[in-house]
Amino acid sequence: MKLSPQQKLHRRYLMARQVAFAGNFAAALPALKEIAGQTADPVLAFRASANVIDILVGESRYEEAFARLNPLLAQLPQMKGHDVRIQGLGVAAQLYTEAGQYDTAVRYADQMIKESTDAPSACRGWLYKSNALFESGSAQLPVDQFRDGTEACKKAGDTLFSLGFQHLLASFDMRQGHLESAIRVLQASYPKVLEAGYPPLISEFEATLAMAYWKRNDLASAAKFANRAVANNANRPYAESTANAYQVLYEVDKKAGDRHGALANLEKYVAAHDGYMSRLSAKALAYQIARQQVLAKKQQIDTLNKQNQILTLQQELNEKAVETSRLHIVLLMLVLASIAFWTYKIKRSQLRFMKLARRDGLTGIFNRQHFVKEAELLLQHCRRSSHGACLVLIDLDHFKIVNDTHGHAVGDRVLRRAVEACQEHLRSTDIFGRLGGEEFGILLPECTLEQAVARAEQIREAITTAATGEDAPGIPISASFGVTVTTRSGYELRQLLIHADEALYQAKREGRNRVRVANRPESA
Ligand code: GH3
Ligand code: MG
Ligand code: MG
Repeated sequence: MKLSPQQKLHRRYLMARQVAFAGNFAAALPALKEIAGQTADPVLAFRASANVIDILVGESRYEEAFARLNPLLAQLPQMKGHDVRIQGLGVAAQLYTEAGQYDTAVRYADQMIKESTDAPSACRGWLYKSNALFESGSAQLPVDQFRDGTEACKKAGDTLFSLGFQHLLASFDMRQGHLESAIRVLQASYPKVLEAGYPPLISEFEATLAMAYWKRNDLASAAKFANRAVANNANRPYAESTANAYQVLYEVDKKAGDRHGALANLEKYVAAHDGYMSRLSAKALAYQIARQQVLAKKQQIDTLNKQNQILTLQQELNEKAVETSRLHIVLLMLVLASIAFWTYKIKRSQLRFMKLARRDGLTGIFNRQHFVKEAELLLQHCRRSSHGACLVLIDLDHFKIVNDTHGHAVGDRVLRRAVEACQEHLRSTDIFGRLGGEEFGILLPECTLEQAVARAEQIREAITTAATGEDAPGIPISASFGVTVTTRSGYELRQLLIHADEALYQAKREGRNRVRVANRPESA
Protein backbone atom coordinates (compact mmCIF):
# COMPACT_ATOMS: atom_id res chain seq x y z
CA MET A 1 0.00 0.00 0.00
CA LYS A 2 1.31 3.41 -0.97
CA LEU A 3 1.13 6.21 1.60
CA SER A 4 0.47 9.88 0.77
CA PRO A 5 3.15 12.39 1.88
CA GLN A 6 0.85 13.44 4.73
CA GLN A 7 0.37 9.86 5.83
CA LYS A 8 4.10 9.34 5.66
CA LEU A 9 4.68 12.34 7.91
CA HIS A 10 2.09 11.05 10.32
CA ARG A 11 3.77 7.66 10.45
CA ARG A 12 7.13 9.32 11.04
CA TYR A 13 5.54 11.26 13.91
CA LEU A 14 4.31 8.09 15.59
CA MET A 15 7.72 6.49 15.17
CA ALA A 16 9.51 9.53 16.58
CA ARG A 17 7.24 9.42 19.63
CA GLN A 18 8.17 5.83 20.24
CA VAL A 19 11.84 6.68 19.95
CA ALA A 20 11.35 9.49 22.49
CA PHE A 21 9.45 7.23 24.88
CA ALA A 22 12.35 4.84 24.84
CA GLY A 23 14.54 7.70 25.99
CA ASN A 24 16.37 8.36 22.73
CA PHE A 25 15.69 12.09 22.70
CA ALA A 26 18.68 12.86 20.50
CA ALA A 27 17.13 10.86 17.64
CA ALA A 28 13.52 11.86 18.26
CA LEU A 29 14.04 15.62 18.50
CA PRO A 30 15.22 16.45 14.94
CA ALA A 31 12.57 14.16 13.45
CA LEU A 32 9.77 15.83 15.39
CA LYS A 33 11.10 19.30 14.59
CA GLU A 34 11.15 18.43 10.92
CA ILE A 35 7.60 17.08 11.01
CA ALA A 36 6.38 20.19 12.87
CA GLY A 37 7.98 22.40 10.23
CA GLN A 38 7.01 20.42 7.14
CA THR A 39 3.47 19.22 7.58
CA ALA A 40 0.56 21.07 6.06
CA ASP A 41 -1.71 19.58 8.72
CA PRO A 42 -1.99 22.10 11.57
CA VAL A 43 -3.02 19.42 14.04
CA LEU A 44 0.00 17.26 13.26
CA ALA A 45 2.25 20.32 13.43
CA PHE A 46 0.77 21.16 16.83
CA ARG A 47 1.24 17.63 18.15
CA ALA A 48 4.82 17.39 16.88
CA SER A 49 5.62 20.78 18.35
CA ALA A 50 4.19 19.75 21.74
CA ASN A 51 6.43 16.69 21.68
CA VAL A 52 9.41 18.83 20.77
CA ILE A 53 8.73 20.92 23.86
CA ASP A 54 8.53 17.78 26.01
CA ILE A 55 11.90 16.65 24.77
CA LEU A 56 13.49 20.09 25.09
CA VAL A 57 12.39 20.14 28.73
CA GLY A 58 13.80 16.63 29.18
CA GLU A 59 17.11 17.88 27.78
CA SER A 60 17.04 20.98 29.99
CA ARG A 61 16.83 23.23 26.93
CA TYR A 62 14.34 25.48 28.59
CA GLU A 63 14.89 28.61 26.58
CA GLU A 64 14.01 26.80 23.37
CA ALA A 65 11.11 25.09 25.11
CA PHE A 66 9.59 28.37 26.28
CA ALA A 67 10.23 29.98 22.91
CA ARG A 68 8.15 27.20 21.32
CA LEU A 69 5.46 27.29 23.98
CA ASN A 70 4.15 30.74 23.10
CA PRO A 71 3.36 30.03 19.45
CA LEU A 72 1.90 26.70 20.54
CA LEU A 73 -0.45 28.40 22.98
CA ALA A 74 -1.35 30.92 20.28
CA GLN A 75 -2.44 27.97 18.11
CA LEU A 76 -4.42 26.35 20.90
CA PRO A 77 -7.75 28.17 20.30
CA GLN A 78 -7.77 26.82 16.73
CA MET A 79 -7.26 23.26 17.89
CA LYS A 80 -10.67 21.62 18.18
CA GLY A 81 -9.88 17.94 18.67
CA HIS A 82 -10.01 16.61 22.23
CA ASP A 83 -6.70 14.74 22.25
CA VAL A 84 -4.69 17.48 20.63
CA ARG A 85 -6.11 20.06 23.06
CA ILE A 86 -5.31 17.86 26.05
CA GLN A 87 -1.78 17.48 24.75
CA GLY A 88 -1.34 21.25 24.31
CA LEU A 89 -2.84 22.11 27.68
CA GLY A 90 -0.70 19.42 29.27
CA VAL A 91 2.52 20.79 27.78
CA ALA A 92 1.60 24.24 29.07
CA ALA A 93 0.73 22.98 32.57
CA GLN A 94 3.98 21.04 32.81
CA LEU A 95 6.18 23.78 31.48
CA TYR A 96 4.67 26.45 33.69
CA THR A 97 5.23 24.21 36.68
CA GLU A 98 8.84 23.76 35.62
CA ALA A 99 9.16 27.52 35.44
CA GLY A 100 7.67 27.97 38.90
CA GLN A 101 4.52 29.60 37.53
CA TYR A 102 2.23 27.40 39.58
CA ASP A 103 -0.97 29.44 39.31
CA THR A 104 -0.75 29.45 35.53
CA ALA A 105 0.07 25.75 35.54
CA VAL A 106 -2.99 25.03 37.69
CA ARG A 107 -5.17 27.05 35.30
CA TYR A 108 -4.07 24.92 32.34
CA ALA A 109 -4.45 21.69 34.37
CA ASP A 110 -7.96 22.69 35.43
CA GLN A 111 -8.77 23.33 31.79
CA MET A 112 -7.55 19.81 30.98
CA ILE A 113 -9.76 18.30 33.68
CA LYS A 114 -12.72 20.32 32.40
CA GLU A 115 -12.21 19.37 28.77
CA SER A 116 -11.27 15.74 29.28
CA THR A 117 -13.80 13.22 28.05
CA ASP A 118 -11.88 10.11 29.12
CA ALA A 119 -10.39 8.95 32.39
CA PRO A 120 -6.69 8.96 31.28
CA SER A 121 -6.93 12.61 30.20
CA ALA A 122 -8.67 13.58 33.43
CA CYS A 123 -6.06 11.70 35.46
CA ARG A 124 -3.32 13.48 33.55
CA GLY A 125 -4.96 16.82 34.40
CA TRP A 126 -5.16 15.88 38.08
CA LEU A 127 -1.52 14.78 38.02
CA TYR A 128 -0.35 18.12 36.59
CA LYS A 129 -2.57 20.11 38.90
CA SER A 130 -1.40 18.20 41.98
CA ASN A 131 2.21 18.36 40.85
CA ALA A 132 2.00 22.17 40.54
CA LEU A 133 0.67 22.24 44.07
CA PHE A 134 3.46 19.96 45.31
CA GLU A 135 6.17 21.98 43.59
CA SER A 136 4.73 25.17 45.01
CA GLY A 137 5.52 23.75 48.46
CA SER A 138 2.06 22.69 49.64
CA ALA A 139 2.15 20.13 52.45
CA GLN A 140 -0.86 18.17 51.26
CA LEU A 141 -3.55 17.96 48.64
CA PRO A 142 -6.96 19.37 49.46
CA VAL A 143 -9.32 16.52 50.36
CA ASP A 144 -11.56 16.86 47.32
CA GLN A 145 -8.58 17.10 44.99
CA PHE A 146 -7.10 13.95 46.52
CA ARG A 147 -10.45 12.17 46.17
CA ASP A 148 -11.26 13.29 42.60
CA GLY A 149 -7.69 12.78 41.39
CA THR A 150 -7.46 9.31 42.92
CA GLU A 151 -10.81 8.37 41.43
CA ALA A 152 -9.99 9.65 37.94
CA CYS A 153 -6.62 7.91 37.94
CA LYS A 154 -8.13 4.67 39.25
CA LYS A 155 -10.57 4.71 36.35
CA ALA A 156 -7.73 5.39 33.94
CA GLY A 157 -6.04 2.13 34.84
CA ASP A 158 -2.29 1.73 35.16
CA THR A 159 -1.20 4.43 32.77
CA LEU A 160 2.04 6.34 33.26
CA PHE A 161 -0.02 9.28 34.49
CA SER A 162 -1.96 7.37 37.13
CA LEU A 163 1.29 5.77 38.31
CA GLY A 164 2.82 9.22 38.38
CA PHE A 165 -0.15 10.36 40.43
CA GLN A 166 0.55 7.56 42.97
CA HIS A 167 4.16 8.74 43.21
CA LEU A 168 2.95 12.23 43.84
CA LEU A 169 0.64 11.06 46.64
CA ALA A 170 3.63 9.29 48.21
CA SER A 171 5.71 12.44 47.90
CA PHE A 172 3.03 14.39 49.80
CA ASP A 173 3.10 11.67 52.47
CA MET A 174 6.88 12.01 52.74
CA ARG A 175 6.62 15.73 53.11
CA GLN A 176 4.25 15.22 56.01
CA GLY A 177 6.45 12.50 57.55
CA HIS A 178 4.01 9.70 56.77
CA LEU A 179 6.74 7.28 55.82
CA GLU A 180 4.70 4.09 56.18
CA SER A 181 1.94 5.42 54.00
CA ALA A 182 4.43 6.59 51.38
CA ILE A 183 6.18 3.21 51.26
CA ARG A 184 2.84 1.42 51.06
CA VAL A 185 1.65 3.51 48.16
CA LEU A 186 4.93 3.24 46.29
CA GLN A 187 5.36 -0.48 46.84
CA ALA A 188 1.80 -1.11 45.68
CA SER A 189 2.47 0.50 42.32
CA TYR A 190 6.15 -0.38 41.90
CA PRO A 191 5.58 -3.63 39.94
CA LYS A 192 3.24 -1.82 37.54
CA VAL A 193 5.81 0.92 37.07
CA LEU A 194 8.45 -1.63 36.20
CA GLU A 195 6.00 -3.17 33.78
CA ALA A 196 5.28 0.17 32.12
CA GLY A 197 9.03 0.50 31.53
CA TYR A 198 9.45 4.25 31.49
CA PRO A 199 12.93 4.79 33.03
CA PRO A 200 12.40 8.29 34.49
CA LEU A 201 9.29 7.14 36.38
CA ILE A 202 10.96 3.94 37.58
CA SER A 203 13.91 5.80 39.06
CA GLU A 204 11.61 8.34 40.68
CA PHE A 205 9.77 5.52 42.48
CA GLU A 206 13.06 3.98 43.52
CA ALA A 207 14.66 7.19 44.73
CA THR A 208 11.60 8.09 46.81
CA LEU A 209 11.43 4.58 48.24
CA ALA A 210 15.15 4.82 49.10
CA MET A 211 14.53 8.13 50.87
CA ALA A 212 11.60 6.67 52.80
CA TYR A 213 13.54 3.56 53.90
CA TRP A 214 16.54 5.60 54.92
CA LYS A 215 14.37 7.87 57.02
CA ARG A 216 12.87 4.78 58.59
CA ASN A 217 16.43 3.62 59.27
CA ASP A 218 16.09 0.59 56.98
CA LEU A 219 19.54 1.11 55.48
CA ALA A 220 19.61 -2.09 53.43
CA SER A 221 16.36 -1.33 51.60
CA ALA A 222 17.41 2.27 51.24
CA ALA A 223 20.69 1.31 49.59
CA LYS A 224 19.00 -1.25 47.36
CA PHE A 225 16.47 1.22 45.93
CA ALA A 226 19.02 4.03 45.74
CA ASN A 227 21.35 1.89 43.65
CA ARG A 228 18.50 0.88 41.36
CA ALA A 229 17.51 4.52 40.92
CA VAL A 230 21.06 5.49 39.99
CA ALA A 231 21.24 2.64 37.50
CA ASN A 232 17.96 3.54 35.85
CA ASN A 233 18.96 7.18 35.71
CA ALA A 234 22.23 6.48 33.96
CA ASN A 235 21.45 8.97 31.20
CA ARG A 236 19.82 11.50 33.57
CA PRO A 237 22.71 12.39 35.89
CA TYR A 238 21.16 15.70 36.96
CA ALA A 239 17.62 14.52 37.69
CA GLU A 240 16.24 15.24 41.12
CA SER A 241 15.81 11.53 41.70
CA THR A 242 19.50 10.94 40.89
CA ALA A 243 20.53 13.53 43.45
CA ASN A 244 18.16 12.04 46.02
CA ALA A 245 19.50 8.55 45.40
CA TYR A 246 23.15 9.62 45.84
CA GLN A 247 22.21 11.50 48.97
CA VAL A 248 20.73 8.32 50.43
CA LEU A 249 23.80 6.31 49.39
CA TYR A 250 26.09 8.87 51.01
CA GLU A 251 24.09 8.86 54.26
CA VAL A 252 23.98 5.06 54.31
CA ASP A 253 27.77 4.78 53.81
CA LYS A 254 28.36 7.39 56.45
CA LYS A 255 26.21 5.52 58.92
CA ALA A 256 27.88 2.26 58.03
CA GLY A 257 31.28 3.90 58.66
CA ASP A 258 32.37 3.48 55.04
CA ARG A 259 34.19 6.79 54.79
CA HIS A 260 35.58 6.06 51.38
CA GLY A 261 32.20 5.17 49.90
CA ALA A 262 30.57 8.10 51.71
CA LEU A 263 32.99 10.59 50.18
CA ALA A 264 32.54 9.17 46.68
CA ASN A 265 28.74 9.29 47.01
CA LEU A 266 28.85 12.75 48.54
CA GLU A 267 30.79 13.97 45.52
CA LYS A 268 28.24 12.40 43.19
CA TYR A 269 25.42 13.74 45.27
CA VAL A 270 26.84 17.27 45.15
CA ALA A 271 27.42 17.03 41.42
CA ALA A 272 23.90 15.73 40.80
CA HIS A 273 22.41 18.24 43.20
CA ASP A 274 24.32 21.12 41.64
CA GLY A 275 23.27 19.93 38.22
CA TYR A 276 19.70 19.65 39.39
CA MET A 277 19.79 23.05 41.05
CA SER A 278 21.37 24.73 38.07
CA ARG A 279 18.66 23.11 35.98
CA LEU A 280 16.16 24.68 38.29
CA SER A 281 17.68 28.10 37.93
CA ALA A 282 18.13 27.52 34.20
CA LYS A 283 14.39 26.87 33.99
CA ALA A 284 13.56 30.00 35.90
CA LEU A 285 16.00 32.01 33.84
CA ALA A 286 14.74 30.59 30.56
CA TYR A 287 11.21 31.33 31.56
CA GLN A 288 12.14 34.87 32.47
CA ILE A 289 13.96 35.34 29.17
CA ALA A 290 11.01 34.00 27.20
CA ARG A 291 8.64 36.13 29.23
CA GLN A 292 10.72 39.23 28.73
CA GLN A 293 10.83 38.55 25.01
CA VAL A 294 7.08 38.16 24.94
CA LEU A 295 6.65 41.25 27.07
CA ALA A 296 9.05 43.21 24.91
CA LYS A 297 7.13 42.18 21.83
CA LYS A 298 3.84 43.00 23.50
CA GLN A 299 5.19 46.32 24.65
CA GLN A 300 6.39 47.05 21.16
CA ILE A 301 2.93 46.27 19.85
CA ASP A 302 1.40 48.29 22.66
CA THR A 303 3.67 51.22 21.86
CA LEU A 304 2.77 50.97 18.20
CA ASN A 305 -0.90 50.77 19.11
CA LYS A 306 -0.56 53.75 21.41
CA GLN A 307 1.29 55.67 18.71
CA ASN A 308 -1.44 54.78 16.27
CA GLN A 309 -4.06 55.83 18.77
CA ILE A 310 -2.28 59.11 19.35
CA LEU A 311 -2.01 59.65 15.62
CA THR A 312 -5.70 58.92 15.08
CA LEU A 313 -6.59 61.10 18.02
CA GLN A 314 -4.42 63.86 16.66
CA GLN A 315 -5.98 63.44 13.27
CA GLU A 316 -9.46 63.52 14.77
CA LEU A 317 -8.45 66.49 16.83
CA ASN A 318 -7.08 68.25 13.77
CA GLU A 319 -10.23 67.49 11.85
CA LYS A 320 -12.28 68.72 14.77
CA ALA A 321 -10.10 71.82 15.03
CA VAL A 322 -10.53 72.50 11.33
CA GLU A 323 -14.24 71.89 11.67
CA THR A 324 -14.42 74.07 14.73
CA SER A 325 -12.46 76.89 13.19
CA ARG A 326 -14.51 76.53 10.04
CA LEU A 327 -17.59 76.79 12.20
CA HIS A 328 -16.09 79.79 13.95
CA ILE A 329 -15.37 81.45 10.64
CA VAL A 330 -18.87 80.74 9.43
CA LEU A 331 -20.33 82.04 12.69
CA LEU A 332 -18.09 85.05 12.55
CA MET A 333 -19.09 85.70 8.99
CA LEU A 334 -22.75 85.32 9.91
CA VAL A 335 -22.28 87.73 12.78
CA LEU A 336 -20.42 90.16 10.54
CA ALA A 337 -23.03 89.78 7.83
CA SER A 338 -25.84 90.37 10.28
CA ILE A 339 -23.99 93.33 11.75
CA ALA A 340 -23.48 94.71 8.26
CA PHE A 341 -27.10 94.00 7.41
CA TRP A 342 -28.39 95.68 10.53
CA THR A 343 -25.99 98.58 10.17
CA TYR A 344 -27.26 99.02 6.64
CA LYS A 345 -30.88 98.68 7.77
CA ILE A 346 -30.37 101.15 10.60
CA LYS A 347 -28.46 103.53 8.38
CA ARG A 348 -31.12 103.30 5.74
CA SER A 349 -33.93 103.94 8.16
CA GLN A 350 -31.89 106.74 9.70
CA LEU A 351 -31.43 108.20 6.26
CA ARG A 352 -35.10 107.75 5.58
CA PHE A 353 -35.98 109.45 8.81
CA MET A 354 -33.53 112.21 8.08
CA LYS A 355 -34.99 112.60 4.64
CA LEU A 356 -38.48 112.57 6.10
CA ALA A 357 -37.36 115.09 8.67
CA ARG A 358 -36.13 117.35 5.89
CA ARG A 359 -38.97 116.86 3.51
CA ASP A 360 -42.47 118.11 3.36
CA GLY A 361 -44.90 115.25 3.68
CA LEU A 362 -47.33 116.34 1.00
CA THR A 363 -45.10 117.57 -1.80
CA GLY A 364 -41.77 115.86 -1.06
CA ILE A 365 -39.79 119.08 -1.35
CA PHE A 366 -37.75 120.65 1.48
CA ASN A 367 -39.76 121.75 4.51
CA ARG A 368 -39.36 125.22 5.89
CA GLN A 369 -36.70 124.25 8.46
CA HIS A 370 -34.53 122.49 5.97
CA PHE A 371 -35.07 125.13 3.32
CA VAL A 372 -33.83 127.72 5.80
CA LYS A 373 -30.79 125.62 6.71
CA GLU A 374 -29.81 124.85 3.13
CA ALA A 375 -30.53 128.38 1.93
CA GLU A 376 -28.33 129.89 4.65
CA LEU A 377 -25.46 127.53 3.74
CA LEU A 378 -25.78 128.38 0.10
CA LEU A 379 -25.91 132.10 0.81
CA GLN A 380 -22.73 131.86 2.89
CA HIS A 381 -21.06 130.08 0.03
CA CYS A 382 -22.26 132.75 -2.44
CA ARG A 383 -21.06 135.48 -0.13
CA ARG A 384 -17.57 133.90 0.08
CA SER A 385 -17.35 133.40 -3.67
CA SER A 386 -18.95 136.84 -4.31
CA HIS A 387 -21.68 135.35 -6.38
CA GLY A 388 -25.11 136.85 -6.44
CA ALA A 389 -28.29 134.90 -5.59
CA CYS A 390 -32.03 135.57 -5.88
CA LEU A 391 -34.91 134.61 -3.65
CA VAL A 392 -38.36 133.99 -5.14
CA LEU A 393 -41.42 133.68 -2.87
CA ILE A 394 -44.59 132.13 -4.30
CA ASP A 395 -48.10 132.19 -2.80
CA LEU A 396 -51.05 130.54 -4.49
CA ASP A 397 -53.92 132.90 -5.17
CA HIS A 398 -57.24 132.50 -3.43
CA PHE A 399 -56.36 129.01 -2.41
CA LYS A 400 -58.89 129.09 0.33
CA ILE A 401 -61.60 129.16 -2.33
CA VAL A 402 -60.15 126.04 -3.98
CA ASN A 403 -60.38 124.19 -0.69
CA ASP A 404 -63.79 125.51 0.06
CA THR A 405 -65.20 124.74 -3.36
CA HIS A 406 -63.57 121.35 -4.12
CA GLY A 407 -62.52 120.05 -0.78
CA HIS A 408 -59.20 119.64 0.98
CA ALA A 409 -58.17 116.58 -0.98
CA VAL A 410 -58.46 118.37 -4.27
CA GLY A 411 -56.60 121.27 -2.68
CA ASP A 412 -53.75 118.88 -1.85
CA ARG A 413 -53.61 117.63 -5.45
CA VAL A 414 -53.53 121.15 -6.72
CA LEU A 415 -50.67 121.88 -4.37
CA ARG A 416 -48.69 118.95 -5.73
CA ARG A 417 -49.41 119.99 -9.31
CA ALA A 418 -48.17 123.47 -8.56
CA VAL A 419 -44.95 122.07 -7.04
CA GLU A 420 -44.35 119.88 -10.10
CA ALA A 421 -44.89 122.92 -12.32
CA CYS A 422 -42.25 124.79 -10.36
CA GLN A 423 -39.77 121.91 -10.45
CA GLU A 424 -39.85 121.80 -14.25
CA HIS A 425 -38.08 125.13 -14.27
CA LEU A 426 -35.50 124.56 -11.53
CA ARG A 427 -31.80 123.75 -11.82
CA SER A 428 -30.16 121.14 -9.64
CA THR A 429 -28.34 123.85 -7.71
CA ASP A 430 -31.57 125.72 -6.86
CA ILE A 431 -33.09 125.27 -3.43
CA PHE A 432 -36.83 124.79 -3.38
CA GLY A 433 -38.98 124.46 -0.25
CA ARG A 434 -42.48 124.71 1.11
CA LEU A 435 -42.48 127.56 3.60
CA GLY A 436 -46.12 127.40 4.70
CA GLY A 437 -49.55 126.14 3.58
CA GLU A 438 -49.53 127.23 -0.08
CA GLU A 439 -46.40 129.34 0.10
CA PHE A 440 -43.07 128.32 -1.45
CA GLY A 441 -39.56 129.70 -1.67
CA ILE A 442 -36.83 129.25 -4.26
CA LEU A 443 -33.22 130.33 -3.77
CA LEU A 444 -31.43 130.64 -7.07
CA PRO A 445 -27.62 130.86 -6.73
CA GLU A 446 -25.37 132.51 -9.33
CA CYS A 447 -28.30 134.26 -10.82
CA THR A 448 -29.05 137.87 -11.77
CA LEU A 449 -32.30 139.58 -10.90
CA GLU A 450 -33.33 139.54 -14.57
CA GLN A 451 -32.73 135.85 -14.86
CA ALA A 452 -34.68 135.28 -11.64
CA VAL A 453 -37.63 137.31 -12.86
CA ALA A 454 -37.61 135.45 -16.15
CA ARG A 455 -37.66 132.14 -14.32
CA ALA A 456 -40.45 133.36 -12.05
CA GLU A 457 -42.46 134.28 -15.09
CA GLN A 458 -41.94 130.81 -16.57
CA ILE A 459 -43.07 129.20 -13.34
CA ARG A 460 -46.11 131.50 -13.08
CA GLU A 461 -47.12 130.43 -16.57
CA ALA A 462 -46.56 126.79 -15.72
CA ILE A 463 -48.78 127.02 -12.65
CA THR A 464 -51.65 128.56 -14.50
CA THR A 465 -51.50 125.89 -17.16
CA ALA A 466 -51.08 123.12 -14.56
CA ALA A 467 -54.55 124.03 -13.35
CA THR A 468 -56.00 122.66 -16.53
CA GLY A 469 -54.36 119.29 -15.89
CA GLU A 470 -56.36 116.18 -15.17
CA ASP A 471 -55.70 116.31 -11.39
CA ALA A 472 -57.53 119.62 -11.01
CA PRO A 473 -59.78 119.93 -13.94
CA GLY A 474 -61.36 123.29 -14.50
CA ILE A 475 -60.03 124.91 -11.40
CA PRO A 476 -58.34 128.19 -12.21
CA ILE A 477 -55.05 128.33 -10.34
CA SER A 478 -52.52 131.05 -10.21
CA ALA A 479 -49.79 132.29 -7.95
CA SER A 480 -48.22 135.60 -7.03
CA PHE A 481 -44.42 136.06 -6.94
CA GLY A 482 -42.10 138.25 -4.94
CA VAL A 483 -38.47 138.38 -6.08
CA THR A 484 -35.37 139.88 -4.49
CA VAL A 485 -31.62 139.65 -5.07
CA THR A 486 -28.58 139.68 -2.78
CA THR A 487 -27.32 142.87 -4.38
CA ARG A 488 -30.44 144.51 -2.93
CA SER A 489 -31.19 142.54 0.23
CA GLY A 490 -27.75 141.22 1.21
CA TYR A 491 -26.84 137.63 2.05
CA GLU A 492 -28.97 137.34 5.18
CA LEU A 493 -31.88 134.99 4.51
CA ARG A 494 -34.08 136.73 7.02
CA GLN A 495 -33.68 140.03 5.13
CA LEU A 496 -34.12 138.42 1.75
CA LEU A 497 -37.38 136.82 2.99
CA ILE A 498 -38.70 140.16 4.22
CA HIS A 499 -37.94 141.90 0.92
CA ALA A 500 -39.34 139.07 -1.17
CA ASP A 501 -42.46 138.97 0.99
CA GLU A 502 -42.98 142.70 0.47
CA ALA A 503 -42.72 142.18 -3.25
CA LEU A 504 -45.17 139.28 -3.05
CA TYR A 505 -47.60 141.34 -1.07
CA GLN A 506 -47.32 143.97 -3.76
CA ALA A 507 -48.15 141.41 -6.43
CA LYS A 508 -51.22 140.34 -4.47
CA ARG A 509 -52.26 143.91 -4.11
CA GLU A 510 -51.84 144.60 -7.76
CA GLY A 511 -54.26 141.87 -8.70
CA ARG A 512 -52.38 138.57 -8.17
CA ASN A 513 -51.02 136.18 -10.81
CA ARG A 514 -47.95 138.34 -11.35
CA VAL A 515 -44.28 138.74 -10.49
CA ARG A 516 -43.03 141.66 -8.48
CA VAL A 517 -39.48 142.66 -7.59
CA ALA A 518 -38.40 144.07 -4.28
CA ASN A 519 -37.60 147.74 -4.28
CA ARG A 520 -34.03 148.98 -4.45
CA PRO A 521 -32.56 149.56 -1.00
CA GLU A 522 -32.19 153.32 -1.43
CA SER A 523 -35.84 153.65 -2.45
CA ALA A 524 -37.03 151.26 0.31
P1 GH3 B 1 -54.67 134.96 -1.24
O1 GH3 B 1 -53.44 134.26 -0.80
O2 GH3 B 1 -54.78 135.02 -2.69
O3 GH3 B 1 -54.82 136.23 -0.51
O4 GH3 B 1 -55.89 134.05 -0.85
P2 GH3 B 1 -55.87 132.72 -0.07
O5 GH3 B 1 -57.16 132.10 -0.09
O6 GH3 B 1 -54.78 131.87 -0.66
O7 GH3 B 1 -55.54 133.20 1.35
P3 GH3 B 1 -54.60 132.53 2.45
O8 GH3 B 1 -53.20 132.56 1.93
O9 GH3 B 1 -54.86 133.33 3.73
O10 GH3 B 1 -55.19 131.14 2.66
C1 GH3 B 1 -54.43 129.97 2.68
C2 GH3 B 1 -55.28 128.83 2.61
O11 GH3 B 1 -54.63 127.71 2.10
C3 GH3 B 1 -55.80 128.39 3.96
C4 GH3 B 1 -55.89 126.94 3.90
O12 GH3 B 1 -57.20 126.48 3.80
C5 GH3 B 1 -55.21 126.58 2.62
N1 GH3 B 1 -54.21 125.60 2.92
C6 GH3 B 1 -53.01 125.76 3.63
N2 GH3 B 1 -52.32 124.62 3.67
C7 GH3 B 1 -53.08 123.71 2.97
C8 GH3 B 1 -52.86 122.34 2.67
O13 GH3 B 1 -51.85 121.73 3.03
N3 GH3 B 1 -53.82 121.70 1.94
C9 GH3 B 1 -54.98 122.38 1.49
N4 GH3 B 1 -55.88 121.69 0.79
N5 GH3 B 1 -55.16 123.64 1.80
C10 GH3 B 1 -54.24 124.31 2.52
MG1 MG C 1 -50.90 132.12 1.81
MG1 MG D 1 -52.71 132.33 -0.82
